[in-house]
Amino acid sequence: MNQKFRYQCVTCGKEFETDEIIYLCPDCERKNKPGEPLRGVLKVIYDYDMISDDVSGDSLFSVIKDDSYLDLLPIEQSDTIPGLRIGHTPMYEVDTFEGKPLSAALYIKNDARNPTLSFKDRASVIVSAFAQQKGIDTIVTASTGNAGSSMAGICAAQGQKAIVIVPENAPFEKLIQIVMYGATLIPVKGTYDDAFDLSVELTKKTGIYNRNTAYNPFTIEGKKIAAFEIYDDLLGEIPDNIFIPVGDGVIISAIYKGFEELMKLHLTKSMPTIVAVQAEGSPNLVDNLNRKVFKSVKSKTIADSISVDVPRNFHMTANYMKSYHGKAIKVSDDEIIQASLQLGRNTGIFAEPSAAAALAGFFKMYRMNEIDEKSVNLVMITGSGMKDMAAIKSYLTLPKPIPNDLDKLLRHLDL
Ligand SMILES: *Cc1c(COP(=O)(O)O)cnc(C)c1O
Ligand SMILES: [Zn+2]
Repeated sequence: MNQKFRYQCVTCGKEFETDEIIYLCPDCERKNKPGEPLRGVLKVIYDYDMISDDVSGDSLFSVIKDDSYLDLLPIEQSDTIPGLRIGHTPMYEVDTFEGKPLSAALYIKNDARNPTLSFKDRASVIVSAFAQQKGIDTIVTASTGNAGSSMAGICAAQGQKAIVIVPENAPFEKLIQIVMYGATLIPVKGTYDDAFDLSVELTKKTGIYNRNTAYNPFTIEGKKIAAFEIYDDLLGEIPDNIFIPVGDGVIISAIYKGFEELMKLHLTKSMPTIVAVQAEGSPNLVDNLNRKVFKSVKSKTIADSISVDVPRNFHMTANYMKSYHGKAIKVSDDEIIQASLQLGRNTGIFAEPSAAAALAGFFKMYRMNEIDEKSVNLVMITGSGMKDMAAIKSYLTLPKPIPNDLDKLLRHLDL
């Protein structure tokens, strides 16, 4: 076997190599029980010493299609990556909060600018490229909407087929996206957790390649690139705090893994403090960090992309947060809406509620004086507000039409 990576089980620590398609550690998978986070999630490990010997500084991370960059991805050739432009998302500095200058630096990285308007494209593209490399033409995924619309769009670009299983109450715009991209959409009577289990059963029965977040180890490989971009955007500086919205815990683990790899490559020396932001109505990852026995509450929040009863990647996230002193904060739906309104009005960025949750987390800590003056903070905006209009509609009033008349218009504008 001459594969450039191996797998490490997050639960038992065992490392192994295989060029077969594998999702979970075979030993630990057997101990999985319904209603509990996945055991046996696999982390992809590369030969970092060998890679760092031929790392050419910053340029390594500048282009995804650059072959040298492929050293840190589970794919062999850049021509299996679909031509859509993924990542390289813009970063902006915000300097006021509620009309007053902020005492700390705040950067927004706008991942809503990916082709299907969410962070999920970073994962889908690597899963799709790997499938292409293996000659696989069909990919199934369970989704609250974004993973599915992403997989559907990337498969369309790549000439692959996507099957997307969603809870029946997924946002309308995301469902339209999935159908628009030509994927097979399967809404199920049940929750995201039910959709997840059903898609895994389908994979076990038929062998159809599965993209499920946490279950497929390569989703993290795509998502970690966001950490490389942050490092690149800040010219090699590491932010003090990074705010990430958390559902299953894959995005946050991927950000950790990206920064961990930068350290393993001796490009950086420290890990930023990563703040896991969850909705008060779906706190199942952060509330379980210190419990001996996992306990789940039924999720209820406006932030559908982070509404998760059983966070699939709980164990990896908990390990990372413990090893690197991560922080956690919960925000209410009202705080989420207020943050998204402020973001829209101050920056021209329209975020979906799950993405605005990360900013709400920053604002909450800022108000509690938990953000050091002059510290460098980054908020990851993970999805576009255009993907979930119903969530925000009841908080806005659209004006009634006026007569088509200049005098009336001037009066209306108080001019
Ligand atoms: C999926 C998603 C998240 C949460 O990611 P996890 O890996 O499930 O923690 C946050 N925001 C948006 C917009 C998402 O689509
Ligand atoms: Zn194991």
